Amino acid sequence: VNHYLQNIKTKAHLNAFVEVYEHSALQQADLIDQKLVEGKAGKLAGMVIGIKDVLCYADHEANASSKILQGFQSQFTTTAIQRLIDEDAIIIGRLNCDEFGMGSSNENSAHGKVLNALDENRVPGGSSGGSAVAVQANLCTASLGTDTGGSVRQPAAFTGIIGMKPTYSRISRWGLIAYASSFDTIGTFTRTVKDNALLLEIMAGHDEMDSTSSRKPVLPYSQLLHFDKKAKVAYLKESIESHALQPEIKENTLSILEKLKDEGHDVQEVEFPLLEYILPTYYILTTAEASSNLSRFDGVKYGYRTPNAHNLESMYKLTRSEGFGEEVKRRIMLGTFVLSASYYDAYFTKAQKVRRLIKDFTENLLNDFDYIIMPTTPTTAFKFGEHSGDPVAMYLEDLFTVQASVSGVPAISIPNGKDAEGMPIGLQVICNSFKEAELFAFSKYLS
Ligand code: GLN
Repeated sequence: VNHYLQNIKTKAHLNAFVEVYEHSALQQADLIDQKLVEGKAGKLAGMVIGIKDVLCYADHEANASSKILQGFQSQFTTTAIQRLIDEDAIIIGRLNCDEFGMGSSNENSAHGKVLNALDENRVPGGSSGGSAVAVQANLCTASLGTDTGGSVRQPAAFTGIIGMKPTYSRISRWGLIAYASSFDTIGTFTRTVKDNALLLEIMAGHDEMDSTSSRKPVLPYSQLLHFDKKAKVAYLKESIESHALQPEIKENTLSILEKLKDEGHDVQEVEFPLLEYILPTYYILTTAEASSNLSRFDGVKYGYRTPNAHNLESMYKLTRSEGFGEEVKRRIMLGTFVLSASYYDAYFTKAQKVRRLIKDFTENLLNDFDYIIMPTTPTTAFKFGEHSGDPVAMYLEDLFTVQASVSGVPAISIPNGKDAEGMPIGLQVICNSFKEAELFAFSKYLS
């Protein structure tokens, strides 16, 4: 803990941590030392973990990196975090992110931007940028993020570490401040596949506080990492041929596929005609869900309340206009529009139907193949400000990560070399629902 606290201080300018629980982390470490002596320590004894600022931790502040939640303290602890604590993990602090998880660069945070430790002029990715940099810069052993459309996998790719999003419903969402409830998953950042697998096996499993959490048995993923079969791997023609794809990422992805072929795996190109519909579907459905989820922040129950109101209505209006950032407001407006009576069928219902097509296609493909491989992102980490004036260019960064989110299947990003400027490239592996054990084993084999 002391080692990490020291690193956090020397690298404070990266702005990964919003709050450091110095005192309680040291206290916790002492307690665990004692338990170790007594032979009673849990499976995560001594693992030092940072948590994204959208996960509630009782009696601690959680802001979703938004002004509107300034001063908000939760009465509850996120189930996933409680399960880590029960196994003697040490929670070292709260990590910066894009406001309510909306963004791909961590530039939309009320706590300011997070710097990529490999090149401080570049973004760390988002929305879980602080969580990624905390592991990248050695500020903790592992961290929790959330992934609604790529927010764990994309920053993992941009920072050169491992980021995993499990099957939707595999980890309880109790305690996660909602962005888009039918997409949100808690995910993990680590340096090794084994640590990642271990964290999932502890956090996963049914929780009576989240009725959507799965009752399927949880496997000891960290002990199932041996891989010795011949895999059937698909790659999507449209993803490799996409004009948005940076040439070095294409090369590195193709060379992994070649290597797999040489090793006797069955690697096949598959057409995916729905690629161009993925982003519109994702952004219609998530903004719709967000506009509904974020309606609770009205100055009455949580966090910020405007000091400038003169009656009830102006209290609501001013609190929301002063409290939410620009991107969050854009999405609330977009979401409210697609849910409005006259446009509901044209946008929301239509997008639900397209979601079904994408999900069916993906699941069918994953019945025929063990894995889908594709790049995690079309580009490596870009410079600050490069996309901030153009939301559509920013949304394009999510081109390859949203398929797994729209379909609810698990996906992981593992490092796959660097580009000419030394920035890390991520390789994404996708598997069918609840096949996390197979996903980890294959990722370990690949890495
Ligand atoms: N960049 C995507 C978005 O802005 C993904 C965010 C996320 O997964 N939380 O919606």
